[in-house]
Amino acid sequence: MRYQAPRGTHDVLPSEVPNWRFVEETFRELCARYGYQEIRTPVFEVTELFARTSGESSDIVTKQMYTFRVGDESLTLRPEGTAPTIRAYLEHALHAQGPVCKLFYICPIFRHEAPQAGRYRQHHQVGIECLGAADAAADAEVIALGHDYLRALGITGEVLHLNSVGCPQCRPTYRQALRDFLQPLLPRLCDDCQRRYAVNPLRVLDCKSTTCKALVADAPRGLDYLCAECAAHFAQVRRWLDTLGIGYELDPRLVRGLDYYTRTAFEFMHDGLGAQSTVIGGGRYDGLIEQCGGKPTPGVGFGSGIERALLIRAALQAALPAAPARKVFVATQGDAARAASIPLLYELRRAKVPAETDYLGRSLKAQMREAHRQGARFALILGDDELAHNVVTLRDLQTHEQRVVPREQVVSELQRLTAV
Ligand SMILES: [Zn+2]
Ligand SMILES: [Zn+2]
Repeated sequence: MRYQAPRGTHDVLPSEVPNWRFVEETFRELCARYGYQEIRTPVFEVTELFARTSGESSDIVTKQMYTFRVGDESLTLRPEGTAPTIRAYLEHALHAQGPVCKLFYICPIFRHEAPQAGRYRQHHQVGIECLGAADAAADAEVIALGHDYLRALGITGEVLHLNSVGCPQCRPTYRQALRDFLQPLLPRLCDDCQRRYAVNPLRVLDCKSTTCKALVADAPRGLDYLCAECAAHFAQVRRWLDTLGIGYELDPRLVRGLDYYTRTAFEFMHDGLGAQSTVIGGGRYDGLIEQCGGKPTPGVGFGSGIERALLIRAALQAALPAAPARKVFVATQGDAARAASIPLLYELRRAKVPAETDYLGRSLKAQMREAHRQGARFALILGDDELAHNVVTLRDLQTHEQRVVPREQVVSELQRLTAV
């Protein structure tokens, strides 16, 4: 029996970890600069949190959640990052610490969907939530952070799609206009859309079926139905984006079906994965916190799949910042030298010098080959001669220069040579 990772999951191997760390550290650094604080929530939550916040009719809730029962509790592996963040925000009264609370997360996300390129049943997301600010400047900040994140990752060529989905005051009028438009088309829409028509007609607009896409090409645009407040808010978001030099395309099909989504909706799309696909998706959700049991509180944020960002980086051949080689390989010849090398190895490690040695009793020549294979920058060579003179031979594996260093100076010398 040979085991394999479950379908739709993947291992992150040591060779890929530098790419992951680059993405995560880039995001962390950017969030710190923008004043967002990290939050970590459990991998699972009570099912009801997602059922209520994602909408009982959404694809996530109806088809994609990993839900399990333990005792009489129904639990679900986190299918998205916002609801758990809001739950924690309310549970710990983070709103009491200040009127605006800015949080970010980096976490795994679980959805049972058909595996395809850049889409996994366990994938990973970075995301931000700006809670407590209704001002259009908050929408612009969230979008700007997403924009800067892509730039910092070396990703260019993305298109920012922008829309406003209105508010509970103006949306019913639009929803009715959309129903009136869709009604005669109903028999030709896909099964999902027939259901959406009744429950949530806005979702018909973002159906992936080409038939549906063609049928709704001339559907009424939500932007034409915004109330005065929503129109003014959207105009201000656009002005801020212009001020920041962030280009965008208006996209009337960019809808988020649920009632707690309000006003700004946006996606950064990129074609680095073949077809255009979303690398960052977000928007405003002024009704969500209330839906989760809090006082009415505005919020805006985004989520972004790490795997997708990595695939786009790979497609663009975006380079990793060069990490200087620092490793020191301690090579020995003879039992006495071996015995003396172990304290040296640990002195180096404890002095924050990355150090490795041979564990297979290989010849000095084989040890030097191993040092090169591991990408070591320096080798320290210890044999009977070195022991007799209380020195160590230091070889620079890049320049092949070699010199002898007194034993008591070796650690400080390597600290100096490998300083970053
Ligand atoms: Zn409105
Ligand atoms: Zn459809």
